[in-house]
Amino acid sequence: EKPKAERLSVEQEGKFTEDMKSLFEKLKPSEASGDRRRRFLEKLERLLNREWPGHDIQVHAFGSTENHLCMIDSDIDVCIKTSWDGLKSTCYLAARLAKCGMERVVCVPGAKVPIVKIWDPEYQVACDMNVNSTLALDNTKMIKTYVEIDERVRPLAMIIKHWTKRRVLNDAAGGGTLSSYTWICMILNFLQTRDPPILPALHQRPHKKRPPINGVDVSFDDDIETLKGFGHNNKETLGELLFAFFKKYGHELDYEKKVISVRHGKLLSKEEKNWQYLQNNRLCVEEPFNFTRNLGNTADDSSVRGLHLEFRRAHRILSEDADLATVCEQYEFP
Ligand code: ATP
Ligand code: MG
Repeated sequence: EKPKAERLSVEQEGKFTEDMKSLFEKLKPSEASGDRRRRFLEKLERLLNREWPGHDIQVHAFGSTENHLCMIDSDIDVCIKTSWDGLKSTCYLAARLAKCGMERVVCVPGAKVPIVKIWDPEYQVACDMNVNSTLALDNTKMIKTYVEIDERVRPLAMIIKHWTKRRVLNDAAGGGTLSSYTWICMILNFLQTRDPPILPALHQRPHKKRPPINGVDVSFDDDIETLKGFGHNNKETLGELLFAFFKKYGHELDYEKKVISVRHGKLLSKEEKNWQYLQNNRLCVEEPFNFTRNLGNTADDSSVRGLHLEFRRAHRILSEDADLATVCEQYEFP
């Protein structure tokens, strides 16, 4: 199938950008929901230190609670930081949280990062927590920095996240598709590879090196004052960008050969990363810090085919009548 249109007409583009702006206003979480999240975090920290006094237990939120890409129904991702070994057993932590009034408590001890999932009925929030897995705090800071560099990043990323949720493309664990984190990396790389670029590659810019954590280099340029305005030579509107996003991933990217790399701000080849023979390597998205990891490996071949069709569907609808509501229509299982 050939791309239907190279670009949007001026009228289509104008309408589409306006639609995106008003959808963004609706997706932005209210102040009240931000408040609930903050108060939940304070409560959790109080509760943990009351249960286990004297261990200086700190609660740090990460993920969408911190990266400016929070949606109304986003969970709260939490890293519990403590030098005390007692919380290492997630099931022990889970049991205590259940006693303190948390609901739907589940411990997942065997995962790469063991977590506890809870639902707090008081603040009506879902929370996933890990103990001392701090890398997520660093990659969250990276995303937050990218979002702050150019004002188009936040609305564009929120709308694409919304689209992924409505089209059921955002379930790495259960659905064999991609996590929000993977989607965000694909969006950032798209913006790094516009001409002229809207985002830099923070890892490639000069910056102060920090000591590695568990062998992982966690440093990147986070000097937001000098980074702001980086993309000003690019004048593309939100509408043009979303259209180009669907076109790129629906029709332009060579999935057979390329690796999406936020760390390098460009596409790499599977050969140079030695990823030709990885399992589930149809869609390759390099984890920016643990760069031997392919974030795209949650999607198998048939799942990637499905994603590809979704990009094309969105691109086709936009080129025909630029209707954002249809693009984001809830997917109905046949
Ligand atoms: P949502 O609003 O959908 O919850 P989110 O931005 O919180 O979106 P998640 O996919 O829930 O994104 O991931 C939360 C955070 O967990 C990410 O910001 C990242 O810090 C970390 N994370 C998630 N998946 C990975 C991964 N595969 N490798 C490293 N860190 C990850
Ligand atoms: Mg999250």
